[in-house]
Amino acid sequence: MLEVRDLTVLYDQAPAVVQASLNLPTGQVLAVLGPSGCGKSTLLRAVAGLEPPASGTVSWDGRDLSGVPTHKRGFALMFQDGQLFNHLTVARNIAYPLRIRRRPRSAQRVAELLALVGLDGFADRLPATLSGGERQRVALARSLAADPRLLLLDEPLSALDAGLRERLAADLRVIVRAAGTTALFVTHDHEEAFAVADRIAVMRAGRIVQHGDLDAVWRAPVDAETALFLGYSRVLEGQAAARVWAAGGSSRRSAHDTPGSPSRTSGTIPPGEVAVRRSALRLDPTGPLTGRVISARVTPLQVRVVVSIDGVGEIDAVAPLDQHPGVGETVRLAADHTRMAVIAAALGPGSL
Ligand code: ADP
Ligand code: MG
Repeated sequence: MLEVRDLTVLYDQAPAVVQASLNLPTGQVLAVLGPSGCGKSTLLRAVAGLEPPASGTVSWDGRDLSGVPTHKRGFALMFQDGQLFNHLTVARNIAYPLRIRRRPRSAQRVAELLALVGLDGFADRLPATLSGGERQRVALARSLAADPRLLLLDEPLSALDAGLRERLAADLRVIVRAAGTTALFVTHDHEEAFAVADRIAVMRAGRIVQHGDLDAVWRAPVDAETALFLGYSRVLEGQAAARVWAAGGSSRRSAHDTPGSPSRTSGTIPPGEVAVRRSALRLDPTGPLTGRVISARVTPLQVRVVVSIDGVGEIDAVAPLDQHPGVGETVRLAADHTRMAVIAAALGPGSL
């Protein structure tokens, strides 16, 4: 397994990565999620041995890798633009890492890899004849060719358009799983992180601010900024948080709660800060909240509504497509606790 301990990387005294710690069990996929410039690529390069740490360690299965050069770490790197050799066919691009390692039976391995990434029949094509998504699949196959013990992916989908990115994110997960490779994946896109990874590390200004299983991080972001970066649409505090949280307490879902589980649906704990998804509030004639419609807009899946609720203010909500509330109309709303998160830092000790 990969272990990064208190890693700091400086560029001319300026810290790009600050005391970052994370671990990645063998066979899992970890996404490092953070905004542009927060130090993701630097972290990845330090793990690969391309940037020397100012302090801290990178180790694999307990062995400290400082002093082990990049090509001896057994890691593979893949970038946003797959950096294929344009004069070589797809098959030769994929076979390249095998050739430089003088591995036998590379033709068979290339065929396996082409099948793995869904490009059977592409062996003799030149990169210039491929779509962006196909090029990234070839780059992925090439990265996997030499059976790296760790695959390092630096925003591998960022150069693709939205629809393709979504499909390839799902494929990437399937491919990396099928290959059985451990992977560290950096991205600024939370949807990509959720589509690909088992674990997530949220990075900000060079620091890892939260690290854990995907759903644990999603259910309890450490602070408001992290919640917004993870894709929650708003963070409520004080009375607004308390009102919306309490409104979830009477939702039908609370009947399914495990007895004795934390009273997250009881509405009794003062929540401090609560992160809400757009769909946490939905129009429901039996809901406990009353609001006035500020705007309503039809989207392919639902009607997106902005409502003004006493004691909460203006907030997003959703309605089914067969309801299109008019501006100014008074509506009732229900809240769904499964689409909210209590901000961990706002809770007192022992309250979770
Ligand atoms: P990210 O990948 O999250 O966008 P980077 O790791 O590329 O972030 O950059 C982190 C910080 O380090 C940025 O402020 C960037 O300007 C700086 N940086 C990156 N590479 C270099 C370099 N080679 N020399 C000096 N500063 C750098
Ligand atoms: Mg980067």
